[in-house]
Amino acid sequence: METFSIATSSRCELVEITGRVAAVVEACGASDGIAVIYIPHTTAAVTINENADPSVARDIVMKTSKLAERRDRDYTHGEGNSDAHVKASMLGSSETVIIEEGRLRLGTWQGIFLAEFDGPRNRRVWVKVISG
Ligand code: ZN
Repeated sequence: METFSIATSSRCELVEITGRVAAVVEACGASDGIAVIYIPHTTAAVTINENADPSVARDIVMKTSKLAERRDRDYTHGEGNSDAHVKASMLGSSETVIIEEGRLRLGTWQGIFLAEFDGPRNRRVWVKVISG
C-alpha cells in the first residue's frame, strides 16, 4: 500500500488526485487488477467525476453545501463541523478503479478527486493495488 499527502487550501473544495494515483499504479508495476483509493478521514471524501470542466467540481461543492448546511440548530456534534461529516458520508471514503495494461481505466471525462469539507488541512490518501 502507498500513501501520499494533499494539502488542501479551502474549507470545501475538490482537488484532483488522478495523477498521484496513476503514479502509484505505475510505480507498483501491476499490469491488470484494481486500485482502491481510500481516505482515512471523517470530514473529507474520495469521489470520481468530471475533470474536463472545473465547474462540475464547483457545482458538487455548492450543492453538497446546500444539502448539508453549515449552520443547522439541530446538529448535536460539538465540534461545529457536522456539515463536513455529513458531506463526507454522502460521497464516501473510497473508490475502486480497474487497472488495465498498467493504467487506470477511467472514462474519458473522469477524474479522481479528494473532496475536502473541513479544510484547509493536510490529508492522507491510501492507495492499495491488487493485481490479478
Ligand atoms: Zn467533527
